[in-house]
Amino acid sequence: MSTLRRSIMLASRPKGAPSPENFSLEEDVMPEPGEGEVLTRTLWLSLDPYMRGRMSDAASYATPIAVGAAMMGETVGEVVASRDPRFAPGQIVVGAWGWQSHIVTPGDKLVVVPPGAPSCAYLGVLGMPGTTAYVGMKDIGKPKAGETVVISAASGAVGSVAGQLAKRAGARVVGIAGNSDKSLFVQDTLGFDDCIDHRDVMDLSGALKDACPNGIDVYFENVGGDLQQAVFPLMNDFGRIIMCGMVAEYNDTKPRPGPNLMAVVRKRLHIQGFIVSDKPEHFAEWRALAAPWIAEGSLRYREHVVDGLENAPGAFIDLLRGHNFGKLVIRVAEPTKGA
Ligand code: NDP
Repeated sequence: MSTLRRSIMLASRPKGAPSPENFSLEEDVMPEPGEGEVLTRTLWLSLDPYMRGRMSDAASYATPIAVGAAMMGETVGEVVASRDPRFAPGQIVVGAWGWQSHIVTPGDKLVVVPPGAPSCAYLGVLGMPGTTAYVGMKDIGKPKAGETVVISAASGAVGSVAGQLAKRAGARVVGIAGNSDKSLFVQDTLGFDDCIDHRDVMDLSGALKDACPNGIDVYFENVGGDLQQAVFPLMNDFGRIIMCGMVAEYNDTKPRPGPNLMAVVRKRLHIQGFIVSDKPEHFAEWRALAAPWIAEGSLRYREHVVDGLENAPGAFIDLLRGHNFGKLVIRVAEPTKGA
């Protein structure tokens, strides 16, 4: 076993879009687990848009990463050493956090990955992003048969699941995605009724109007910016807007003007934000619901795999430009043979 651990640290806080200089790759001595702790070797690292917020020290719902500390992100790892009797070397677990090759975690934060779906799915469709889509649709969107639902970042980790849930509820589902391959995937593989390539159309409002002749009842907001401006006027009376995220605005240095909110009164709109971790019980609830759908092939998903921990900063910078196609994960290492 290597005697050194590799970590990607936050070297400085970005102003606007992050650049490679905001990260540094460092090595230190391999940590050892204390009583009740487990040392894992990272196999997969999840990269997610929320990490941009953690790189800033602006007021937020979560504590920022300190400059000089390791970047945070959930991982799937292989147990190397354990001082918690529930874990043994070779087990594959999810729940250790860090852009790091090896991580020490209290055993009660770790879950053994069940057999069935590939372990990496526990960072995406069966993990935090899938749960986010589930909570947003179940608690806020509540789509009904015959309603029109619009999903931005439709090919992504959250959007792809959100749209399939709305289809299951019998809604007409229109995606918005950032290139023709993504749009094709959204329609042909995920089964959405339509998809608009927002980087290709000259008139996004017109394209949305054509795709949603009966207006929009539910909007699952992942992106913000121009997309939000185009969707908002098309909302129907008693429409619901699920405020999940606004990734197109995460690199902004000052807030953009929002839409005029008088329409909220006139149309009796329901607009609600949420953070998936608000109700931790939703994670297990979603896993129990979705794992059989994955097994039978009725819930589709796509992963965008980048190899090598050292490539995490570049992949993350690209995520914020919309260059990923599916759930972005870093393959940090292969499991030990037979694990
Ligand atoms: P995705 O896998 O969807 O990747 C992000 C996508 O957003 C890109 O592929 C791109 O899609 C789009 N995008 C990125 N940058 C831009 C840009 N500058 N302009 C326009 N589009 C852009 O990410 P996730 O599914 O993981 O996350 C989706 C949203 O959900 C994010 O806003 C995230 O912060 C939020 N979120 C919120 C949670 C909560 O608890 N509230 C939990 C998890 C995620 P395209 O090219 O198709 O436009």
